[in-house]
Amino acid sequence: MTAEPLTVDPEAVAARATALRARVDGLTRHGPIAIVAVTKGFGSDAVRAAAAAGFTDFGENYAQELLVKATDLGDQLSARWHFLGRLQRNKVRSLAPLVVVWESVDRPELAEEIARRAPGARVYVQANLSGEPNKGGAPFSEVPDLVAAARSLGLAVDGLMGVAPAGDPEDARPGFRALVALADDLGVEVRSIGMSGDFEVAVEEGSTELRVGTALFGSRPLRR
Ligand SMILES: *Cc1c(COP(=O)(O)O)cnc(C)c1O
Repeated sequence: MTAEPLTVDPEAVAARATALRARVDGLTRHGPIAIVAVTKGFGSDAVRAAAAAGFTDFGENYAQELLVKATDLGDQLSARWHFLGRLQRNKVRSLAPLVVVWESVDRPELAEEIARRAPGARVYVQANLSGEPNKGGAPFSEVPDLVAAARSLGLAVDGLMGVAPAGDPEDARPGFRALVALADDLGVEVRSIGMSGDFEVAVEEGSTELRVGTALFGSRPLRR
């Protein structure tokens, strides 16, 4: 079982959001940058606090956690959910009515199931930036075929997503750069790179979408 979700202080979230936006604006050279508020590990109050601070898009890694929050929030706010985590095919059906962007498409079977349950859905293909197999994402060499396969299934492949290895943010730079170059080649608009620890490097390298949890909500206990 997972631990009880953490609660947040809405004023602290609003203050962190202001600081984050100012920092991102100060670095931006390539055009507007979207910020997805990653609420994993936190309760529905984190979604409410972020919505009050102006966020419209929320990211979750675990199907069950997203479903619980979406049910809890009901019609209170129209959260736009991004699914970010490793995804089993049998979870796609229950998520399909809620998810607006499937960011972690890493294999053809998953694209097929999304196309079946959510025809025409927006997806990003996740590239493995670190080369470590357990980090998720398709190897760079497989990304072009996966993008083509998802497109031929009628999915709207609007972006590439990548998670950099934890550690020195400078170590993230080559992977970010490679992802942006590949997105250019493939004619894919969104570059979903950059998290709390490395968003500055990601923005410098041409991110168009940051996925930020800790820097908005505070730290989470490690899962498992
Ligand atoms: C957890 C997570 C994030 C947010 O991470 P922070 O370091 O808390 O900003 C972003 N993207 C993915 C895929 C994640 O799993």
